[in-house]
Amino acid sequence: MNTNKAIQIIEKLKNYYPDATCSLDFETPFQMLVAVVLSAQCTDERVNKTTPSIFSKYPTVYDFDNMDLSTLEELIHPCGFYKNKAKNLKAAARTIIEKYNGEVPNTMEELLQIPGVGRKSANVIMLEAFHNPQGIAVDTHAKRISNRIGFSNESDPLKIEQDLLKVIPKEYYYDVNHLLVWHGRKVCTARNPSCNICPIKELCKKNI
Ligand code: SF4
Repeated sequence: MNTNKAIQIIEKLKNYYPDATCSLDFETPFQMLVAVVLSAQCTDERVNKTTPSIFSKYPTVYDFDNMDLSTLEELIHPCGFYKNKAKNLKAAARTIIEKYNGEVPNTMEELLQIPGVGRKSANVIMLEAFHNPQGIAVDTHAKRISNRIGFSNESDPLKIEQDLLKVIPKEYYYDVNHLLVWHGRKVCTARNPSCNICPIKELCKKNI
């Protein structure tokens, strides 16, 4: 894969998904962080059904810090892995208050210091909360599509991201983050990719 081909693919996907955007609902960087932590192993749709009642009663990092762990566990139960996620969110709230004066930091280096925030989540937070993407979040969709299209032969998300960053110019990071997810949900699905209607079928390694 070279940069010219990568750009052709991105442009075709942009035309096909002109409205591709973030599908998690949030109002503040901290709420974005909460939503992204909850979205691990869970659909964005379910997260969006779960968070409104939480954010209306507990909107801030201080509310999460003060909340009982058991209360938080109960509130986020529908999103799965609730014990681990609740523990991480409590620890994240404490870290943000103690180390960052209650503000979610806006650099990858600092975000990666927060419990429960890995590189994928940090990429999403930089993109959605701060509109300053620093890389490409490799979730299950981005991983699958990168392998199929031929962006990367790796299976480790960190290595896949490195392969993507080698051929995708920075000005496309914003779009690519959304486009890979949308394409994975709507056309290049896990079990039955709809290659016949795919806008990039002529450029996809799977079809060559
Ligand atoms: S041609 Fe098929 S495998 Fe390739 S990106 Fe399109 S849907 Fe996915």
